[in-house]
Amino acid sequence: MARYIFITGGVVSSLGKGLMAASLGALLQARGFKVRIRKFDPYLNVDPGTMSPYQHGEVYVTDDGAETDLDLGHYERFTGVSARQSDNITSGRVYRDIIAKERRGDYLGATVQVIPHVTDAIKAFALADQEDHDFILCEIGGTVGDIESLPFMEAIRQLRNELEPDQTVSVHVTLVPYIAAAGELKTKPTQHSVRELASLGIKPDVLLCRCEHPLPEGERRKIAQFCNVRAEAVIPALDAPSIYSVPQQYHAEGLDTEVLRAFGITDAPEPDLAAWEDVTDRYFNPEGEVTIAVVGKYVGLPDAYKSLNEALIHGGLANRVKVNIRWIDAEIFEKDPADIAVELEPMHGILVPGGFGERGSEGKIASVRFARERDVPFFGICLGMQMSCIEAARASGIEAASSTEFGETSEPVVGIITEWMSEEGIQKREAGGDMGGTMRLGAYEARLAGNSHVSTIYGGATQIFERHRHRYEVNSAYRGALESQGLIFSGMSPDGLLPEIVERPDHPWFIGVQFHPELKSRPFEPHPLFAGFIAAAVEQSRLF
Ligand code: GLN
Repeated sequence: MARYIFITGGVVSSLGKGLMAASLGALLQARGFKVRIRKFDPYLNVDPGTMSPYQHGEVYVTDDGAETDLDLGHYERFTGVSARQSDNITSGRVYRDIIAKERRGDYLGATVQVIPHVTDAIKAFALADQEDHDFILCEIGGTVGDIESLPFMEAIRQLRNELEPDQTVSVHVTLVPYIAAAGELKTKPTQHSVRELASLGIKPDVLLCRCEHPLPEGERRKIAQFCNVRAEAVIPALDAPSIYSVPQQYHAEGLDTEVLRAFGITDAPEPDLAAWEDVTDRYFNPEGEVTIAVVGKYVGLPDAYKSLNEALIHGGLANRVKVNIRWIDAEIFEKDPADIAVELEPMHGILVPGGFGERGSEGKIASVRFARERDVPFFGICLGMQMSCIEAARASGIEAASSTEFGETSEPVVGIITEWMSEEGIQKREAGGDMGGTMRLGAYEARLAGNSHVSTIYGGATQIFERHRHRYEVNSAYRGALESQGLIFSGMSPDGLLPEIVERPDHPWFIGVQFHPELKSRPFEPHPLFAGFIAAAVEQSRLF
């Protein structure tokens, strides 16, 4: 029997509910329990795939090809459990499915309503697709009191009533602000938030109180008294020096102990936090540092490249160095090419990440050229790999080389794919078809050339599975031209048609990948490509 932990947030958004869910999952796992974490998003998009990163941050892609909320990335990185399609639901998806059923006539005769039809669908989602899990953690997006989250709150209320009394626990994350003029932490917003939650029929068992100053015992008791929660279950959550400290910090404050106690479990083994101790030791005691330039488009919002940021840090953990990331807007190189040397010369590695659209593409291509000509370690991811191929084609004399993503071109070194093979068979898409959910998504196999650099990096493997999210593809008709210029295709799709990896054997470290390795990197298991890239950056730093 799986137990359910419902996680809601109050007072304001951005309190780190996702990180809290991931940390609680990690702590329960460290005690030997099997966990699964799910995210309920109240917005009306069917998935975040069509949203701008500025709206929503990164779109996280699962092995089974779902485009999901970036919180699923936190869950995977902290627990090592691969997320699935069935771990993220949105109001848009619920309504889409219900309306499709209504049109089919599945509800003939009935009035289709939020209660019970929408709430039933949400409950079914919470209960579906589970194995022998001990705990399913369900994080509800948004803030208590939002109109759009009401059906989710109602579904939780019903589930709490329908499941066994000791089968569900409600954790509410709130803010206890510090008012400088009064020199005090204020508990009133928390009281209001809990009252709002209670008015929806949900009584929290554990409160996680985010605060910038330590929560005095008196304030803790006051919150307990007004919010009907045991004082020990009011967990102070001070800002952490790093996200990697959060599981240990929350454990020290009693979060996992109190959640277990709320289930009536008092004899669980203590968590084994050795892996987290190793991660924090590496993070806080680096033996050197490197600086990596990430030349992209959405550089104003760190969440747009969340997994990339984390994977670079993981690469640093593997090499015991601190990784400084210099986020550079590719467009600045288009305005003044002299900036390229100024910005990139001090860098120990250059990374061109995934992205969409033409804006900044010439700046990215110029960055690839700089890395190639100056022997600076280069890592191209998805669009970054495509740019490295366009750069090589231009260097080989094909001056008009471009991508059809940027408009019509006589030299489509990168072009749209309308057909490809997946495990389910041949996949097709219309060139002008729907944008939502129609990319080549999820885990696909790549075959690696036996004597390649990339095969060495993957420990001699010749077959790998990595996650994809792209619509365009390097056109293998240009393979000869690119190879003549020194850029070889060292990884291909199993049918030999789609280039998956390119590399330059005559360069210290130059690799482009069509997939997103950052999505599979974890602090305990840094992705080999990021570990290798940072190792090369360490070498580069020794030349300075
Ligand atoms: N825009 C490119 C494509 O669709 C690259 C996508 C990406 O970088 N994720 O193929």
